[in-house]
Amino acid sequence: MIASPWDQRIDRARQLVQAHAAAREILRFYVDIAGLQKSIYERLDPTIPRGTEVLLPYFPSLLSLVAHTGPAPVARTAGELAKNPAQWPTLLADPHADEHRGFFTRVLLQPYFEYQARGSGVVKSAVQPVCPFCGERPQVAVLRGEGEGGKRSLVCSLCATEWEFRRLLCPNCGEEAERKLPVFVAEEFPHVRIEACDTCRTYIKAVDLTRNGLAVPIVDELASVALNVWADERGYAKRQLNLLGM
Ligand SMILES: [Zn+2]
Ligand SMILES: [Zn+2]
Repeated sequence: MIASPWDQRIDRARQLVQAHAAAREILRFYVDIAGLQKSIYERLDPTIPRGTEVLLPYFPSLLSLVAHTGPAPVARTAGELAKNPAQWPTLLADPHADEHRGFFTRVLLQPYFEYQARGSGVVKSAVQPVCPFCGERPQVAVLRGEGEGGKRSLVCSLCATEWEFRRLLCPNCGEEAERKLPVFVAEEFPHVRIEACDTCRTYIKAVDLTRNGLAVPIVDELASVALNVWADERGYAKRQLNLLGM
């Protein structure tokens, strides 16, 4: 039996907790959140197609989890939201809510959209800068060794759909000149690169599976938070913040 995507992510985050002290708190929190997301994903019922209101019953456990183990700003927001259940449906309607409230929205919507996207038959070779299934931005790029040049694909920040994308092409502004698309690798994460664009000054991280076949792109992206600081200091803005707002 193939492990569910959630089990792979949780296992990978647990492994990385040992290796990367700097990201330990982030990864531990992610393990808790991904555990809740996994239970949502597994309980969705394909025979009852429904809207996002099916996620409302998960708010109490999410809010209590975050209030107890989350970083201070989201923990505070969890406390406020717990007192205002009338706001919950509105939050589910907007994955672009402000940073702290949007966190809760995305935690709940990710497994919901991933479930919908699974087996949707969406064209995965569409060379487009946003997700061909849900229209959201990519969270991370993935490099795979196919032939000489290798292939790059992008992973959606909301539904985790992966689609092929040209290797030399900025997903933000469409720049294709190689000299304008610098790549940076740090010693600490030889399989994670910063793929930047000097035209629009944004970056996306790419996880190179030919260098580390055990990597799980969404999780390794979180674990390599030290690279974000490095890129920020050089004036590159991250095009899509991850689930934890980093
Ligand atoms: Zn998507
Ligand atoms: Zn660009």
